Amino acid sequence: MRKILHIDMDAFYASVEQRDNPDLRGKPVVVAWRGARSVVCAASYEARKFGVRSAMPAVRAERLCPQAVFVPPDFVRYKAASKQIRDIFLRHTDLVEPLSLDEAYLDVTEPKTDFPSATAIAEEIRRQIREETSLTASAGIAPNKFLAKIASDWRKPDGQFVIRPQQVDAFLAPLPVAKIPGVGKVMQGKLSALGIELVGDLREYPMDELQRNFGSFGASLYRRARGIDERPVEPNQPVQSISAEDTFEHDVPLHELAPTIRRLAVKTWEASRKTERVGRTVVLKLKTSQFRILTRSHTPETPPDSLETLTDIALSLCARVEQPEGTLYRLVGVGLGGFREREEGMSQGTLFNESNP
Ligand SMILES: [Mg+2]
Repeated sequence: MRKILHIDMDAFYASVEQRDNPDLRGKPVVVAWRGARSVVCAASYEARKFGVRSAMPAVRAERLCPQAVFVPPDFVRYKAASKQIRDIFLRHTDLVEPLSLDEAYLDVTEPKTDFPSATAIAEEIRRQIREETSLTASAGIAPNKFLAKIASDWRKPDGQFVIRPQQVDAFLAPLPVAKIPGVGKVMQGKLSALGIELVGDLREYPMDELQRNFGSFGASLYRRARGIDERPVEPNQPVQSISAEDTFEHDVPLHELAPTIRRLAVKTWEASRKTERVGRTVVLKLKTSQFRILTRSHTPETPPDSLETLTDIALSLCARVEQPEGTLYRLVGVGLGGFREREEGMSQGTLFNESNP
């Protein structure tokens, strides 16, 4: 039986802001860029009382909570805090799988420390986070990732919750199906049409019927409803793709995209140099004012080996965007995909020697 922790920082970005600026403590804080199209990156618990949530348009947050203090995100500080927290995790186990800057799965079946239980490890990790970063975290403790993630939400903020193997069935049965990852609004509607509202209802359905209705996701539903999740905690997930994108204040025509593409290429290039792997495919992503997403990609014979090459390819991909004249774009992105291990003969040198401006 495995012991999995899901550790989730509480209102992470907003908490970092409140920690670093005492004036913000006790106040509704919304981390978001200013601008008509910006979305909320994080909201403090004081702001959540007004209904403000992550990913909601910033203008909506402003309407819900006009007295909120809006702070632009500062990822340098968030990353520094995230690194400190990750180092704390690594004292207890090497099996750490970060999901984002503020949450991670840990497999503590065979921990490096000698605490008597996974619960005690979670308590210690949360204590160390509090002491060393002045931030709070919540934890879920369970036999697998799926259950640990649900559990970490149960006593938020600054709490933890254990789902023991023998409690799994009783715990899951009364939960709404939306608690199962992958069950969004649309899937919820489909399940509801079959009379399935709760995880317990889902258990009445045999595997083949769920598969008939939902394909391979049906099999996953069948397993999750029974609390089964065999996915291992995977440390150091290899990089698959890296990208940077930007939403414009006002929609722009194709011929005005170049400066933004150049700027995004710099970001993507810098980020790609932090990995040990090499991206082979250059991707240009566009979203039209009608919200149509277009991607164009090119895989050159040899992987792009300089910022200039990456930029040139990204710019050249614009020529392959065949949209009616007058089409406007609200978003552009530049990415590198198809990451592979660095091949023999492709030394760090050749890759890192591009002119340093
Ligand atoms: Mg969080």
